Amino acid sequence: MLRSSANSGLVLATQRLGGITSRGTNLSATLMKGGPLAERVRAEVADDVRELGQVGLATVQVGEDPASTIYIRRKHEAADEAGMHSVDRKLPASISQEELVEEVAALNADDGIDGILVQLPLPRGLDDAAAVTAIDPVKDVDGVHPFNAGELYLGRPTHVPATPLGIMALLDEHRVPLDGARAVVIGRSDIVGKPIAHLLLQAHATVTICHSHTDDLARQTLDADVLVVAAGVPEIVTTDMVKSGAAVVDVGINRTESGLVGDVDPDVAKVAAFLTPVPGGVGPMTIAMLLENTVRAARFRRGLLAFPGIRG
Ligand code: NDP
Repeated sequence: MLRSSANSGLVLATQRLGGITSRGTNLSATLMKGGPLAERVRAEVADDVRELGQVGLATVQVGEDPASTIYIRRKHEAADEAGMHSVDRKLPASISQEELVEEVAALNADDGIDGILVQLPLPRGLDDAAAVTAIDPVKDVDGVHPFNAGELYLGRPTHVPATPLGIMALLDEHRVPLDGARAVVIGRSDIVGKPIAHLLLQAHATVTICHSHTDDLARQTLDADVLVVAAGVPEIVTTDMVKSGAAVVDVGINRTESGLVGDVDPDVAKVAAFLTPVPGGVGPMTIAMLLENTVRAARFRRGLLAFPGIRG
């Protein structure tokens, strides 16, 4: 049971009184809202940017996927608000792999750019892995270059993907115990599932990773003190799959006919001790941590932090 968070008593009481969701659920879980923490992180980033002088973030979008365009716009708005210099490279879907790599190489060589993010997935015909590998690892603020993924695997995190960092920050903010806890992650993507599993492992949780071939998902999830759900399947986790008192992180963003829903049924709030809302949970943290990663990249590049191995 994880109901012993030091700051949760008053919050719990308040949320119980007012805690009726749009679907009529009586809440009992503390909602781990991302907005307030993300605001704090972004304010700290703005201070850091002032201190560093200039910090630059570049995004590369190939094609015109509407959801990607919205995500990119939000990232630029947040970067601008933090005082960063931001560059939005929009490239046609007809671009060749070589041209895309040249675009990335030009950003690598641009001294005014500290962080580079290539929006994935790329349109059909372009190779995600080749594009990501073209990014200078020190500028890889999405933490997807094999060097940075490998450093995380080895327990020496350099650049770590923003969403898992945001999840860890939310769990920390709510003082969810991880050392010795049983953690279950649903999803094994390079950008969410695998990196969050490694971060939880490094925090000394006992980690199980589930995926689309996992037999009897509930058997795994019912054991979880901490459950992170990143499947992209609307409400794949239901109340009967969650251990009483668990901390549940819903990463999913699914656009359905009834609106935006997560991967977790909101009724899970009746059994969980902590739950991230969708929207307003992990989402705001992802953008905040991307900005924090960009400041980190600026520090690496200025020699204020040591970037291991491949840079002297
Ligand atoms: P991917 O599609 O890359 O990965 C989904 C993972 O879930 C895969 O590993 C897949 O298994 C697994 N999965 C799919 N169906 C099932 C199932 N029925 N049972 C168990 N596992 C299943 O997605 P992402 O990791 O990129 O994103 C996951 C979700 O999180 C999406 O909804 C996405 O929109 C959202 N997201 C939200 C962010 C935020 O800031 N809030 C940021 C990033 C993502 P397998 O490997 O076997 O195919």
